[in-house]
Amino acid sequence: MRNKWLARLGLLALLAGGFPAPPAAASLPGDARTIVEALVACGTRHSLSSWTNTKRGIGCGRDVVVRHLEAVEKDSGKRMRVVIDRFETRAPRTRNVPVPMENVYAILPGTDPARERTAFVVSGHYDSMPSDVMDAVTDAPGADDDASGTAVSILAARALAPKPARATLVFAAVAGEEQGLLGAKRLLEWLTKQGYTVGGMITCDIVGATNGSPDRRVRVFSEGGPDGIDSPGRQMARLGEEIAGKDKVRLVFRLDRFGRGGDHRPFVEAGLPAVRFTEPLETTEARWSVAKTVETPPAGAPAAAPGAAPFPSSLSLEETLSSVLLGTSTDNHYFAARSVGKNGKKSIAVPAVAAVRRPPGYVASEAPRPATPPTPAATVPK
Ligand SMILES: [Zn+2]
Repeated sequence: MRNKWLARLGLLALLAGGFPAPPAAASLPGDARTIVEALVACGTRHSLSSWTNTKRGIGCGRDVVVRHLEAVEKDSGKRMRVVIDRFETRAPRTRNVPVPMENVYAILPGTDPARERTAFVVSGHYDSMPSDVMDAVTDAPGADDDASGTAVSILAARALAPKPARATLVFAAVAGEEQGLLGAKRLLEWLTKQGYTVGGMITCDIVGATNGSPDRRVRVFSEGGPDGIDSPGRQMARLGEEIAGKDKVRLVFRLDRFGRGGDHRPFVEAGLPAVRFTEPLETTEARWSVAKTVETPPAGAPAAAPGAAPFPSSLSLEETLSSVLLGTSTDNHYFAARSVGKNGKKSIAVPAVAAVRRPPGYVASEAPRPATPPTPAATVPK
């Protein structure tokens, strides 16, 4: 199983391929596979596992990250600075009990005094989980989710450390993602307290596999703005496509994969430009309680731009009928249900909203995070 996951790391090369990286310093150890293998060797990196056991648990994962980033720091002549941010947090997925957490950041200060308080952030989460999000004991190697994204953060730090930018660059590996994006929320708080404005944030989460997909483009998820039209994050996604090329990037105009969450979310909710990178295809089957009919866009609707997300599809609902959309990733499409009267008249389509997933032991006293209603009108490419 472990080798299977490790074999899927080819996409890291794809990610790296889109950007002209300066040569890495020779004394820095480790490629993506080395970093991921070291993280996997911690057995589990569940955020509620041990922070002090150096061989197994989340503390072991932190040590791997710190070791690699400190090597970059050393080679940068300490121009890059490694920060271990220890904090306490609580959430339904900590059973509402305060627990310790640690994020690791590598800060490369900007060279332009006018821009050094603007931070551009690359982040991955180094925690992991087995099937049960509250199980801190069972093995949870998390090679793809998200040792792969953690490796991107470390490798990006290594590639860019020799070439400081005018603005500040922050390479982050955060904990607590699986417990409710706790590390990312803290990262945003920390940056704000340090006086930074976030110029842009990319979370790399599940970026190590292609799962046999012939389409090898990295998917970049970006949410629309509060006016339902556009957002700084979506503009950032477009810029990424412009730089890397349409053959490397697939833009998906929604916050995240269907019914899932990522570390860019707290940044997006704060109105900041933030996007998620993820691999081209996940293996989860697309299951829907709907009929097979997929309607085409209405006459006169704008055509989807090449490489952009498709026009929202609508699906006719038939009671109690369950069907599987083979070969279709729900992540990349928009769904809505319509009722059809005996006279053939159709209702207005109601956008599908993913069910809120709740952890075992969920305590209702803390309000659940509301599902973000999809905004199909905002997703039509202009
Ligand atoms: Zn993840």
